[in-house]
Amino acid sequence: MKIPCKVIRDLLPLYHDEVCSAESRQLVEEHLEQCEACRSELRTMEERLHVRPAQPGEEDAANAASKAWKKGTRRAFRKGAALAAAVLLAVLLLAAGGFLYVRNMPVERDAGACGGGYATFIFDKYSQELTRKFVSGSMDEASIISADAVRGTQEASWEGRTIFLEFDIRYEHAERGTVTERVHFVGQRVWFDTYDWSGAIIEG
Ligand SMILES: [Zn+2]
Repeated sequence: MKIPCKVIRDLLPLYHDEVCSAESRQLVEEHLEQCEACRSELRTMEERLHVRPAQPGEEDAANAASKAWKKGTRRAFRKGAALAAAVLLAVLLLAAGGFLYVRNMPVERDAGACGGGYATFIFDKYSQELTRKFVSGSMDEASIISADAVRGTQEASWEGRTIFLEFDIRYEHAERGTVTERVHFVGQRVWFDTYDWSGAIIEG
């Protein structure tokens, strides 16, 4: 019995999957023995449907490549992080070093740049603050009506980071009237032309 190729082609997928009846199977096999075209069709089907499994060697190579890539990425990341940390540390050290350098500079460095008028410069910058300090540190603060630093009376000297500043403070006292006192202040240099002042010392 000659079966048309068309019919055989319809059966081929079932034959290939071994889900057709024994009769169909026999028909297909008889046809294939005589028909090269349908044999070829079956081979094509087999090739298409067979997914070639990965060979063991290939799998290892793929894994190794993936691992190497991950390792490389991790290493690059670690290198980058280490570099960033090193740069940050260097910047911090420089900043800290610069800060300490400026902080530890002697008063002379600031005063020298001011060309002789340093006492006046510091007086102008701090006399109001120091006068307030003098009043608030005074035993009879309540009796002091007003107080002013007398410009022109200022003198200063320094040693290392310490500055000694003195000037007259004239104030109106409720009972004693106008009083002028010579007041000394001791400052510790903390930054350019910047001092931390201790309380007033009144000349006895
Ligand atoms: Zn055929």
